[in-house]
Amino acid sequence: MSRFFSKKYNALTPYTPGEQPKDQKYIKLNTNESPFPPTPAVCEAVKNAAAHVNLYSDPECRELVSTWCDTMGTAPDEVLFTNGSDEILNFAFMAFCDAEHPAVFPNISYGFYPVFAMLNGIPYEEIPLAKDFSVNVEDYIGVKKTVILANPNAPTGIALPLCDIERIVASNPDHVVVIDEAYVDFGGESAIPLIRKYDNLLVTGTFSKSRSMAGARLGFGIAHPALIRDLSTVKYSTNPYNVNAMTQAAGVATLKENALAMERCQAVIENREYTARELARLGFTMTNSRANFLFAAHPLLSGETVYTELRKRGILVRHFSKSEIANYNRITVGSREEMEALISALEEILKNPN
Ligand code: PMP
Repeated sequence: MSRFFSKKYNALTPYTPGEQPKDQKYIKLNTNESPFPPTPAVCEAVKNAAAHVNLYSDPECRELVSTWCDTMGTAPDEVLFTNGSDEILNFAFMAFCDAEHPAVFPNISYGFYPVFAMLNGIPYEEIPLAKDFSVNVEDYIGVKKTVILANPNAPTGIALPLCDIERIVASNPDHVVVIDEAYVDFGGESAIPLIRKYDNLLVTGTFSKSRSMAGARLGFGIAHPALIRDLSTVKYSTNPYNVNAMTQAAGVATLKENALAMERCQAVIENREYTARELARLGFTMTNSRANFLFAAHPLLSGETVYTELRKRGILVRHFSKSEIANYNRITVGSREEMEALISALEEILKNPN
């Protein structure tokens, strides 16, 4: 740390992104990316947009917003696009949390939430998950804080039904409830239809997982127009051109092939079910994941051993050091070939456990 670093950030522990190693070719099952490459139409759109990068991108993302609204049935003033959903989440912490509106989220969830709270000097509470890793809904009823819930949750993949989300939103009318739906397209139930009923609900989402665009960085928030205006105020006070021109073009092209994106999600869901059956056959226990990853532990091997042994065999999964989940690994669901390679590697590891 230099002597110039602001005291505000002295205690900040930054978020640790999953590894993106380049030393050899890995089967990457560690950052929940899509196994499907972008389509030719998306690549073409990016190439065409690149020819005009002497000009600023459209700060209002007009074509992207109108294509989204045509596809998803929301109104233009209910949508805000951002540089990945990490950015809309940070905007939400900035806009809707302060000393009178502390943040609350589960102790096992997306590791960026406490970082956003610390970065913005916001008090926060982490509520333990139940023993089976589910969110105890009653903990959030009338909690009178800004609630942030990933649904499905990460890294557990467990999803809450929409009726539970609605109870949480309805019971906290004077606080914003943020539902992070990064993984909703893999079998969750979206809360977007509730935004017309509740003016305190913000639903966030991403093109990183279900739309094969992690490297392009495109996220969004959907809410009552008043909340979107607040988030826009934060955006125009930080980086008006937060979504670059290539990404806007890629987003439009992806939305025009929405049916294909949803078919690909279905393929991932089928691979998830196949992998879950195979892992169970090898003795792994798992949560009931509705996301594009599985959260698995083995009674004979520590989580770290599974991680290290897979890495030696060229397969990357995500291991978290938090004690409650140290026995588990989060395994992204890739293509069928990748999952078959994972299962063979695990069979081999289990034959020689030491
Ligand atoms: N929310 C959750 C729960 C996530 O796991 C992630 C991915 N790391 C994100 C949000 C952010 O995704 P992105 O910024 O790529 O949209």
